[in-house]
Amino acid sequence: MQVLVIEDDKEIQEFIQIAFSVGWPGAEVKVVSLGEQGVAFLESNTPDIVILDLGLPDITGYEVIKCIRRYSQIPIIVQTVRDSEIDVVRCLNMGADDYITKPYGQMELLARVRALLRRHFYSHEGQIVRGKLVIDDNNQLIYDGTSFHLTPIEGRIMRLLLEHPNHIVSIEEMKLDIWGDNEYNPVSTIRVHIGRLRNILSKIPCSYWISSTSGIGYTLVIPDQED
Ligand code: CA
Repeated sequence: MQVLVIEDDKEIQEFIQIAFSVGWPGAEVKVVSLGEQGVAFLESNTPDIVILDLGLPDITGYEVIKCIRRYSQIPIIVQTVRDSEIDVVRCLNMGADDYITKPYGQMELLARVRALLRRHFYSHEGQIVRGKLVIDDNNQLIYDGTSFHLTPIEGRIMRLLLEHPNHIVSIEEMKLDIWGDNEYNPVSTIRVHIGRLRNILSKIPCSYWISSTSGIGYTLVIPDQED
C-alpha cells in the first residue's frame, strides 16, 4: 500500500508518517510539499490513495484535483484547515472522495483511508431501484435518463437511504457502514455529503427528498404514489 501525501506543513507531514508507521506498518508514505510535485509523481507512479492539503505554496489543492482527475480515479482525501463547507463541497464536486478537517486524530485518518480503500466501495454492489430512481453498480444515480456521479461515501449513504425508504437511517448506522466502528464524530462529514445528495435530488424532477431528524439521522422520503 502506497500513500501519496501532498502537504507543505512539516509537522503534519510528520504526523501522517507517524500515524501510518504506528497504525499501518508496511504502508509506504511518499511525501511531497508542492502540488506540481504531486501531479508529477502521479504521472509515473500508481499509489493507492492521495492525501491532499488545499493550501499549498504553488498551485491550489483544487488545481491538483483537476489535474489528477484528467487521468486517474485514484481515491483523494482532502485536508482542510477549518470546517468550511463551501471549500469541501467544491472539492467533492471536483472529484475528491472524502475530506478531513485539521486537526484530526491518527485513528480518524487511518479509518478514512481504510474506508476509501475497502474493496466494496469499488466492487459491484448491484443496483437498487426505487420507482424511477436507480443507483447503479458504478455509483451513478439515475433518474429518467439523467445521471449524477456520487462519491463512494455518497453512494453508501444513498444506498442505505434507498434500502430503507421512509424510515430514519441513523447517523450511527451510517458511521458503522462507511467507516467501521471508530471513535470519532462524523456528524459534520455526513451533513456535507447529505447536502450534496439533496442538491442532486433537487436537480431531478422527482418528488423524493431527504429529511433530517436532528441529531438522530436522515430519511429518504418517497411519496406513496411514486414508490
Ligand atoms: Ca498548507
